[in-house]
Amino acid sequence: MVFSVPMRPIFDAMLVNRTFGDPGVLIDLKFERRAILFDIGDVTGLPTRKLLRVSDVFVSHTHMDHFAGFDHLLRVCLGRDTAVRLYGPEKFISQVGHKLAAYTWNLVENYATDYVITVHELGAGGHIERAQFRSRRRFEYEALPGTDCSDGVLLESPSFRIRAVPLEHHAITSLAFAFEEGVHINIWKNRLEELGLPTGPWLTRLKELVRAGAPEDTPIRVRWRTRGGAHEQMIPLGKLRASVLEFLPGQRVCYVTDVADNPANRESLVAFLHGADLLFIEAVFLDAEREQAARKAHLTARAAGQMARAAGVRAAVPFHFSPRYLGREEDLRREFEGAWRGG
Ligand SMILES: [Zn+2]
Ligand SMILES: [Zn+2]
Repeated sequence: MVFSVPMRPIFDAMLVNRTFGDPGVLIDLKFERRAILFDIGDVTGLPTRKLLRVSDVFVSHTHMDHFAGFDHLLRVCLGRDTAVRLYGPEKFISQVGHKLAAYTWNLVENYATDYVITVHELGAGGHIERAQFRSRRRFEYEALPGTDCSDGVLLESPSFRIRAVPLEHHAITSLAFAFEEGVHINIWKNRLEELGLPTGPWLTRLKELVRAGAPEDTPIRVRWRTRGGAHEQMIPLGKLRASVLEFLPGQRVCYVTDVADNPANRESLVAFLHGADLLFIEAVFLDAEREQAARKAHLTARAAGQMARAAGVRAAVPFHFSPRYLGREEDLRREFEGAWRGG
């Protein structure tokens, strides 16, 4: 069962499980045949073809409901997929190592494909330790050079980046994540026609140069054939940028779960969530049970709604409801909406 929030046609962001299931969000980058997971609790509801597409898994913290599904992912991908990258908070590398050490791997090196698990552990001060575990090496620990994380960015790819912020959750760290899409560059087809220019691979090259920040006077060669013969034009990049390209800001999707309601977390979160287009945020208890929420270091629906409001998020989905509200989830939604919309 997948609750889907359609965004742009280029990606979907959806809860992995319905309201009372394990928390998790899948971001499916349809045209890249690639997907990203925020948390990996119970993922058995995801079809195999989607799990095989998962390239990167970001784990907020390693309580079982956020991490137990790693075994399922491994089971599905071993021998079929080639790699996955995992990211998590302190102690994450040794915890992944212990999970892998729980199984016997005496036959796995005979598989046709090597399966490489690269693990990133975000420590205090923004340092990232890295290690890998490969099926060809029976998933033995292998150290990789560490790296420094600037401004919370854990992953940077040409079309998006993933940023994390550490928050407090019952004396451990829980990471909140943001998926930040890069600027879209569209082509105005009608303007191309007005200029008498063809579509073709030169437009891809133009977009690449613009993204790379090439100078305005960079000559762009456009060649094409018509019945009248071969044509060629050299046009400066700046002129094309102004006349045929359209720039649209990318979307920002945030994921927040298992965080205590305290002033430091609120301050970090409101800054982190600022301007989010879509927010998935835990709303575990009703405000009436706020003492229970405080003991377990979770947000109430009201607290989550207040933070969504303070950050000015455009759309929000509360999740990770406590099973005590089975049959009463509307109460949680109503409380969240009320605090978010300021009712
Ligand atoms: Zn949890
Ligand atoms: Zn937890």
